Amino acid sequence: MSTQEADVSASLFVNEIPKWGEPSAHILNRPSLLECLSDYIRQVNLYGYRPDNRKVLAVRSSDRCVTLRNAGTPVRQEVYYFIEGELFPEEGTTRLPEGRDAEQLAEKLLTERYEQLSIWTAYDFTKGSPPGFRKPFDFPPVLKGSSDPNPEGKSRGSGVKGVNPLFFLPDPAPISAGESGFLPDVATGEILRYVTALVVTDFRNALPEGDNLPIWDAPLVGIASASDPLFERFQDPEVVGPGHRLPHEWLPGAQSIISIFLPFTKEITRNYTKGQRYSAIEFSSGKWNGSKFLNVVRRALLRFAEQHGATAVAPNIDPRYDSDGWLPFWSERHAAFAAGLGTFGLHQNFISEKGCLGRLCSVVTTLKLLPTIRTYTDIYGYCLYAFDASCHACIRRCPTGAVTDVGKIPGRCEQHGNKEHFKGWGYGSCGHCSTLIPCSREIPARIRNTITNNGEEPV
Ligand code: SF4
Ligand code: SF4
Repeated sequence: MSTQEADVSASLFVNEIPKWGEPSAHILNRPSLLECLSDYIRQVNLYGYRPDNRKVLAVRSSDRCVTLRNAGTPVRQEVYYFIEGELFPEEGTTRLPEGRDAEQLAEKLLTERYEQLSIWTAYDFTKGSPPGFRKPFDFPPVLKGSSDPNPEGKSRGSGVKGVNPLFFLPDPAPISAGESGFLPDVATGEILRYVTALVVTDFRNALPEGDNLPIWDAPLVGIASASDPLFERFQDPEVVGPGHRLPHEWLPGAQSIISIFLPFTKEITRNYTKGQRYSAIEFSSGKWNGSKFLNVVRRALLRFAEQHGATAVAPNIDPRYDSDGWLPFWSERHAAFAAGLGTFGLHQNFISEKGCLGRLCSVVTTLKLLPTIRTYTDIYGYCLYAFDASCHACIRRCPTGAVTDVGKIPGRCEQHGNKEHFKGWGYGSCGHCSTLIPCSREIPARIRNTITNNGEEPV
């Protein structure tokens, strides 16, 4: 590549992620942001004060420049933030006070919110913890995991004939029970209605390509108590690891964890067939663009907590989020397991009552909520392989051999070639091991029947 070509490509893609606290973050183009905000303030204050709930700030991934838009059909490689309600949750923030001009107010508001918006954009474009963009915890991890969880250094076999004895590791999790006479700050049904309304109405829940198919279906909500001993258990090396932070480390005074499972719509997987080498484009796009929407849900839950007089932290979009190799500081799947939403499968995806074709997000909050009762004890309770040594469908579906009968080989998915195949689109996720298998859209029937028969084998 010539120097000139390199200069052009460098100007097209902003990959430089600032270190935490760097004064000039490259993640957002500040002058364009200031201009948009000034325009917006001017417009809504022109004839009296009329805030416009349709207006969004659109950030382009190529140069991180911002434009002012009406909420509408999403465009590829852009992210959107509502000005009213999302960027400025407090009503009347954009009202122009007597004697001030729009630029002055925009500058003031931007100074207050710029870092926050930088963080959002960084996470929305990188789908996870952007390297370098990390604010360390102020204290070392509080370790409470059992010091010797596996004294003989051996895995606990499942005891099911035909299952590789090296497969199972953890002990059964206790069934969680609700407290009697417990008065939650908010009913779980209200949280479910709130997130469902967001999924159904928010324009960002759509593919930017083709007919703009919806990405996510109605969610499931589960609640875990922040004092559930499972969170300490997650720190054991055989579970997540000592880097997994406890709820109160993310948020002092934490009472509950709200975990959400969002299932992919049927449209996202309708073109997936068993014979294809690469994922369907709808699926690859859905995973990438759907991840941005997961952050919309996380941020909405932060606002929900605030509206109810509490606070919340979403670990996966918190600048302190990090990982130790493949071991994260917060695991959405483990949080969901604690919150009664489901269990793991042999493919290591999460199987909820709506199957494994979906994604998870969560927040830690000071709201006191009623924990969802866990109806399972085994970490692989909804997987047919663990149940009766049958199935193996996910092993057969995996083109790289990453799924084995003792679990998944970390990093092997990278060899699939999907990223190269979808390079021009900027996507890359392979989804073979969660599509067209018995646990894709439900708890496999044999297990479901056993659960509904209260543990008795179905006749
Ligand atoms: S495809 Fe079968 S073996 Fe694999 S996780 Fe699902 S139920 Fe378990
Ligand atoms: S994502 Fe693809 S490569 Fe990775 S385990 Fe699943 S099927 Fe295999």
